[in-house]
Amino acid sequence: MDGTDNVYIFRNGNHQSMFIVTKAGVIATDPIAYGRPTGGQTYVDEIKKVTKQPIKYLIYSHHHYDHIAGGKAFKDAGATVISHKRAKERLAVLKDPNTVLPDETFDTKRTINLGGTTLELSYLGLNHSDSTIVMRLPREKIVFIVDTIPVGTFPGRGFIDIYPLETEEFIKKVIAMDWERMIPGHPGQPGGRLGTKKDAQDVLTLMQEASAEIKKQAQDGKCWEPVEKEFKLPKYATLPGYENGLPMVARRYCGLWGRGT
Ligand SMILES: [Zn+2]
Repeated sequence: MDGTDNVYIFRNGNHQSMFIVTKAGVIATDPIAYGRPTGGQTYVDEIKKVTKQPIKYLIYSHHHYDHIAGGKAFKDAGATVISHKRAKERLAVLKDPNTVLPDETFDTKRTINLGGTTLELSYLGLNHSDSTIVMRLPREKIVFIVDTIPVGTFPGRGFIDIYPLETEEFIKKVIAMDWERMIPGHPGQPGGRLGTKKDAQDVLTLMQEASAEIKKQAQDGKCWEPVEKEFKLPKYATLPGYENGLPMVARRYCGLWGRGT
């Protein structure tokens, strides 16, 4: 990655993840191989093109298969798989054949020091899912955050199991952290760009505006159907994913303000 000599982005289709090469081994994240049976191995092979160092860790951003299916190739290469504890609890029940169970978990914080690189793993509360963590490289001032803070696109399917009010607090905590660039789990728009604190603030503002609008309508008894059909946020109409995302956002906020969930 520009401005670093150790951080790389691996992209497969519309998914991406970060890996860090150190002189004592590689820290990889999300295998991103859902529906791509050879995707995990492709990722491992790409790492091998960059370094001869062994892959020591594979860190899951959260428990959703589109980001973490395909870990077997990493396990076979000797990696220790780490996730938030809630991710392992969920995966243990679901037993997805393409998703490797984590070897180790943590609750609120874990720091990995490897070959001179520090990677902080933090759980800052409920956000997109109940297992999504923040990965931060303090020296490089980079964070890797998947799905909670879309970069330059309108929120969409990621809203299915988001915790809307807690996510607002989560984003405020993320903005208060020390970083300059955010790698998102889906390439930022336009051009696959990285995110900034402004992108995080923009998502927070969008959520607050959507929430306030649907709260009014919900309390007038308009959830679910009328809101799902009629909800618009014209200010954001030029963002990619706007039309498809509107009903997802409407449904989630109707769940909150029209039902209490
Ligand atoms: Zn997700």
